[in-house]
Amino acid sequence: MMMDALVKTAAQKGLVLTRVPKPAPGPNEVLIKILKTAICGTDLHIYNWDAWSQSHIHPPLVIGHEYVGEIAAIGDNVVQHFEIGQTVSGEGHLICGQCRNCRAGRGQWCKFTQGVGVNRDGAFAQYLCIPASNCIPISPDLDREVVSFFDAFGNATHTALMFDVVGEDVLITGAGPIGVMAAAICIQNGARNVVLTDIKDYRLELARKLGVKNTVNTMKESLEDRMKPLHMVEGFDVGLEMSGAESALKQMLGLMRNGGQIAMLGLFGKPLTLNMDDFIFKGLTLQGIYGRKMYETWYKMTAMVQAGLDLKPLITHRFPYTRFEEAFEIMNTGESGKIILEWAD
Ligand SMILES: [Zn+2]
Repeated sequence: MMMDALVKTAAQKGLVLTRVPKPAPGPNEVLIKILKTAICGTDLHIYNWDAWSQSHIHPPLVIGHEYVGEIAAIGDNVVQHFEIGQTVSGEGHLICGQCRNCRAGRGQWCKFTQGVGVNRDGAFAQYLCIPASNCIPISPDLDREVVSFFDAFGNATHTALMFDVVGEDVLITGAGPIGVMAAAICIQNGARNVVLTDIKDYRLELARKLGVKNTVNTMKESLEDRMKPLHMVEGFDVGLEMSGAESALKQMLGLMRNGGQIAMLGLFGKPLTLNMDDFIFKGLTLQGIYGRKMYETWYKMTAMVQAGLDLKPLITHRFPYTRFEEAFEIMNTGESGKIILEWAD
């Protein structure tokens, strides 16, 4: 049996829609029929074949890791209860289960993690096989389009909830989809002020559609001036760095209060020039973020959506998978929120 898939067939820009063998589930795996996928920034890096992709991706590879689907087959040894046709998504990091972090319940830091659509075949296909332990049952009341980007929502959730934001002033640098979701999460979870910065008005407008009122285009406005009417005196308590831009990180460092906490998700792709004395004198905490907690973050995501967090306005484009090239080129303009590729339904 063959299926359609978006494949990085060679070490060059682009993807190829082609036929590949339909995977068969191993004894501990489930086969998922893909319904909808969403495009991640990582997929765009792979599509564009930038320096990061060239050192991490080994073609041929089916890419993609944000998806919603339904159970199509269940391996013989699977102990979890799944039913054929059940709506599911999946944790994209396959962990070893044996290293020190795995055994301590810190799977997000597994030394031997394998990424779906990065180190092994991914979800931009009609079918995907993953270990049953990675498969996430999805409550029928959740919107399937929103679930298709739960993987990215998980990065946002893990970053936004890394530090206590209740009653705190939070600065988020970078209003890509993950930054926008992180802002909406901090607002829902009781932050006093949430300020979101970017250099593209399109993205800040999208953020306002998700209820983020305090947006600042740092190319046009002074962030400091915006802090005064918010009654901020000593600086931001919590920083979430989502931009991967050195200038944004430097601005954040300058505006954190002493003892502030920063969670860092954005990748810079190059060494930075920072004065580390700023961290020391300010007593700052810096926390790198990778992936999400397995599986507590998934629980929190579901609960926040069920409690009213509306991520639907983040979706700006929908395409059938056959029109993937248009989708990726729109993402390359930077003027998009989440882009959904439809595979079935
Ligand atoms: Zn491990």
